Amino acid sequence: MQVRSGIPVSPGVVVGPTLVLGSENFRIPRKFVSRDVVESEMVRFHNALDKVCQDIEDHEILVGEQLGSQYAAIFSAHLQMARDPRMVGQVEDAIRNQSNSPEYAVSRTLRKFAEQMQNLGNQYLAERALDIFDLEKRLLRELLGESREELSNLTEPVVILAHDLTPGETAMLNTDYVLGFATEVGGHTSHTAILAGALEIPAVVGLGRCLAGVSGGETVILDGDHGQVVIDPDEATMERFRTSQARNIRVSERLATLETLESETLDGQRVQIFGNIEFPQEVEQCVKRGADGVGLYRTEFLYLGGNKEPTESDHYEAYKQVLSTCGDRPVVIRTLDIGADKVPARIRDRFAESQNPMLGLRSIRLSLQSTPLFKVQLRAILRAAVHGNVRIMFPLVSSLLEFRQAKMILMDVMEDLEDENIEFARDIPIGMMVEVPSAVMLIEEFAREVDFFSIGTNDLIQYTLACDRSDPSVANLYRSGDPSILRMIQAVLKAGEQYGKPVTVCGQMSSDPRFVPLLLGLGLRQISATPHSIPRLKEVVRNISIPEAERIATHACSLDLARDVEHYLLGELGRLCPDLVV
Ligand code: PEP
Ligand code: MG
Repeated sequence: MQVRSGIPVSPGVVVGPTLVLGSENFRIPRKFVSRDVVESEMVRFHNALDKVCQDIEDHEILVGEQLGSQYAAIFSAHLQMARDPRMVGQVEDAIRNQSNSPEYAVSRTLRKFAEQMQNLGNQYLAERALDIFDLEKRLLRELLGESREELSNLTEPVVILAHDLTPGETAMLNTDYVLGFATEVGGHTSHTAILAGALEIPAVVGLGRCLAGVSGGETVILDGDHGQVVIDPDEATMERFRTSQARNIRVSERLATLETLESETLDGQRVQIFGNIEFPQEVEQCVKRGADGVGLYRTEFLYLGGNKEPTESDHYEAYKQVLSTCGDRPVVIRTLDIGADKVPARIRDRFAESQNPMLGLRSIRLSLQSTPLFKVQLRAILRAAVHGNVRIMFPLVSSLLEFRQAKMILMDVMEDLEDENIEFARDIPIGMMVEVPSAVMLIEEFAREVDFFSIGTNDLIQYTLACDRSDPSVANLYRSGDPSILRMIQAVLKAGEQYGKPVTVCGQMSSDPRFVPLLLGLGLRQISATPHSIPRLKEVVRNISIPEAERIATHACSLDLARDVEHYLLGELGRLCPDLVV
């Protein structure tokens, strides 16, 4: 049994067979072949091996001619490894005697060799394990060729273990078969993590290097509540899994009964809870769970799923679907937040030079530099707005000029539509996300110009604490409970109250029930969260009074370490809603 710990990013505990994706995202299926094709499968393996050896020899000759024999020697070592009789013998044995497919036999055998190398305690040999992975990749490329299986073509339930999944790949996961996923990289609020929540797939990220010894097909327990992954669990662990799954089902069934109840504190204060969505289909879950509307629609996901550039009509249809389902509930459409970890494959070259994509051409900056792209979206929003209650929100605004420019382009688009005699809605509230410290510093100036604010804590924490939100090596420093973050939220709420501008928190912080008493105590009355967390948030709202929330907020704000704030809030949550602390 192997136990690995990472960062829990989407709740739920599942068990199933592993499907491993290598660094090139090869899917390595655990396939068995029937007796009568064993010999032809053996030939397939040897053909692939011969082809790989031939390629290595060609490289050896080329490099020898161009760079000299000492460099060519690298390839002789690779060749020796590829022809190693022990390794080849073990692959043959797995095909002939265990009826493994050549892909599975190659992957399992080479990974076992690599793991042994990594465990010898010698840095040089550990690095040679990379050569074995390289050989595995070459062989798989030969064996799988064009028939490399797509993640979207799954036919049986699996738990995916991958080095990484991009937000685009995550968006394409087939939720009928993907029970959960875990990745070696990733942080608390990476967009891949957020998508796992949206798709309601239990997920753990930031496991660190651990895939070497896993070849696919092993049973795994993935615990998205505690951030644990257990490969080949023993019976006692399986029993604990069954107990915790039964408890989760019990709690979820009870929480589901809250869906139709008011989101109101014990002393009668109404608290609006909106949903965050990435895909139009999610809006139904929001409505079903009793959301007051959509507080954040991340529209860039229209660009991340498919292969083609969305047209104005694609935008329009998506927005119309959301608006029609929401009826007169408000829908906050955030304009494109492309860039950083959300880059469509088609335009990846444009970002290739960026050393710091999180600080680069991202979000409203990209929209302002790509006016035609921006205008397509704005036209669609304005047209769709006649079908519902729309609010437009600009992301990552870092200066007043940006906000004014974005608003000016919106006015231009209105004029165009007017000239073209196309129906659209005019009186739309226009707000901004507060997710850059400069926006907090100038919050009063912004408050005079915007119709509403929404605090994006995912980025606000990243930019305030200088911690990449996707980097597991600084995950311990990336803290919602940091006193600096609490003060920023306080400042925005104060300006909102002073200027009569509504304030929402839509970062992942507000999907975490621990922070609800604090946020209510600071004066927040609108939350926008991942749809599946809505019942949990409502449970907290319904079990607290405003004076009690204020007492909790006052104490939390008197603490000077994030760790102490979060520990205190967890204790208070356990007291108020014991079921929510697992
Ligand atoms: C945020 O930054 O908190 C936010 C909600 O935006 P995103 O997660 O899409 O960057
Ligand atoms: Mg953001």
